[in-house]
Amino acid sequence: TKFTDLALDPKVLSAVAEAGYETPTPIQAQAIPHALEGRDVLGIAQTGTGKTASFTLPMITLLGKGRARARMPRSLVLAPTRELAAQVAENFDIYAKNTKLTKALLIGGVSFGEQDKLIDRGVDVLIATPGRLLDHFERGKLLLTGVQIMVVDEADRMLDMGFIPDIERIFQLTPFTRQTLFFSATMAPEIERITNAFLHNPARVEV
Ligand code: AMP
Repeated sequence: TKFTDLALDPKVLSAVAEAGYETPTPIQAQAIPHALEGRDVLGIAQTGTGKTASFTLPMITLLGKGRARARMPRSLVLAPTRELAAQVAENFDIYAKNTKLTKALLIGGVSFGEQDKLIDRGVDVLIATPGRLLDHFERGKLLLTGVQIMVVDEADRMLDMGFIPDIERIFQLTPFTRQTLFFSATMAPEIERITNAFLHNPARVEV
């Protein structure tokens, strides 16, 4: 498979070429076509396999030209730690550089003010740790009813850190009709349980 065989937005393809990527990694080649068809994806992959691009590239393509509304992000990426969320945000900036899509990074250890301003202005993509996202929600600053695509990255680490109840709560705040892209390095019983509860007929891809 070549990147140009995948039905990605030309602006995404140019960014990928500028990043110097030549061919999709196995998780990318398997997950991207399902995601672009609108299916839920359950990806079982470790870090270092290129999984960040396997959800970010189709997400950017699917968001297309739509416009974000104030306080209603169109997509949501959850990562277990500040560092991982910041890495996803850096990757998003690289892959979305030829688009007009906007993002906000919601992580702890930073004042709410700047994050509030971005949310108020409207963002296409919200990248967050679960606790910080719920803090913003409880403060009444954020609505998740406009989320079309939700990504859960490194679910196994979310489980280790005790975030599964937060993840379930966040799932329940988003529309039933959302598309979900869910990644975990392992499938512990508790992970299997929440994917059964919240993913709709997912394409299961494993590398
Ligand atoms: P990840 O598993 O998402 O953390 O990605 C691991 C590393 O692989 C990152 O530094 C990416 O920039 C890089 N990468 C992702 N996809 C590709 C690709 N198709 N070709 C070359 N490098 C890639």
